[in-house]
Amino acid sequence: MIAGTAYSRRAGGSAPRHLRRLPVPQTTDWADVQVVGIPRALLFYRFGVLWTAFFESIGRTVVVSDPTDKAIADEGDRLSVDECCLASKVFVGHVESLVGRCDAVFVPCYPTSDHRSGFCTKFQSATDMVRNTFRDDKLRVISCEVQNARKAKDVRRAFCDMAVRMGVTPKDARTAFKAAWDAQRAHDEALASAQERTLRRLVDERRAADAAAAAGDDAVVRPLGILVVAHPYISHDPYLSGAVIDSLEEMGATVVYADAMDHERAYKKSFEFSGTMPWLINRELIGSILLAQDRIDGIVLISAFPCGPDSMTDDAIMRCIQGTPILNLMIDAQSGTAGVETRVESFVDILRFQQKGGYVHE
Ligand code: SF4
Repeated sequence: MIAGTAYSRRAGGSAPRHLRRLPVPQTTDWADVQVVGIPRALLFYRFGVLWTAFFESIGRTVVVSDPTDKAIADEGDRLSVDECCLASKVFVGHVESLVGRCDAVFVPCYPTSDHRSGFCTKFQSATDMVRNTFRDDKLRVISCEVQNARKAKDVRRAFCDMAVRMGVTPKDARTAFKAAWDAQRAHDEALASAQERTLRRLVDERRAADAAAAAGDDAVVRPLGILVVAHPYISHDPYLSGAVIDSLEEMGATVVYADAMDHERAYKKSFEFSGTMPWLINRELIGSILLAQDRIDGIVLISAFPCGPDSMTDDAIMRCIQGTPILNLMIDAQSGTAGVETRVESFVDILRFQQKGGYVHE
């Protein structure tokens, strides 16, 4: 309807290219795809429940690539151009690991139709990038174009059109989509609830520790809550950031994740920080910082080199988030997480020292 109403009255008469309605597919050229491969990388960590449930609901078998390891990361590095970020190189490695294990790989396209909730260009180009990179392997790619990931009807249209190309009736496709959408929402709500419980527990334990200290207990240890701020495909991929999380936990910190907070609340909150930031996930991460800031002791930012969106937002976070110590870590294909343990240990030591009245004096 967008193309037919508001934009038809513009000079020139047509909608911007990224807002034009895609034609409903007339072919069933993907009907023979029975086994769908899904790379365990990038937006799988955000929408993977929906994707998997949808294909299974239309009767397909789903093969998710194995967790990232050195072989996958090295292969992605070999197949990618140097300028790509570590996360997209790892994604390419996951696609490669699915060659021969499925009838087609699912690589959706997430263009930016809303300039306050868009995605990094990697997600717009992923389908073309995979088709081009693997053209000699004759790897089939199935895809759909999600105009606005925050709008259920946009996502439904993209997935239902794809399902029709797979030989599914529109009615069955809509039923499958509803089940998949609900599964993703339930998953996200469960994560957000768990985070809230953890944050509440931290507040309670901190109060109890303060009361014990006030009563003269010198041995009491205050809890240390650390918010890990990173794209979900970084913070929840053990190969990429496991060393950071392990170090934090080994030092007794309680780790909470910015990407697991309530997405809608975090998105809305982010407008207190910036009215113009274009990236959905970065918005949610920043909104989560604002929602959790008074209940945590420190923030660990983790970025994949050379991430364009993070290079801007990390700088803004470092400058604008006041009163909460921040450790900024960059991981790349060469050094990986080498050396991060030392930096994490130093950071935690400093936070503990501050808790005892160390460097910060009112
Ligand atoms: S947001 Fe950053 S890390 Fe993620 S795909 Fe884009 S450049 Fe890579």
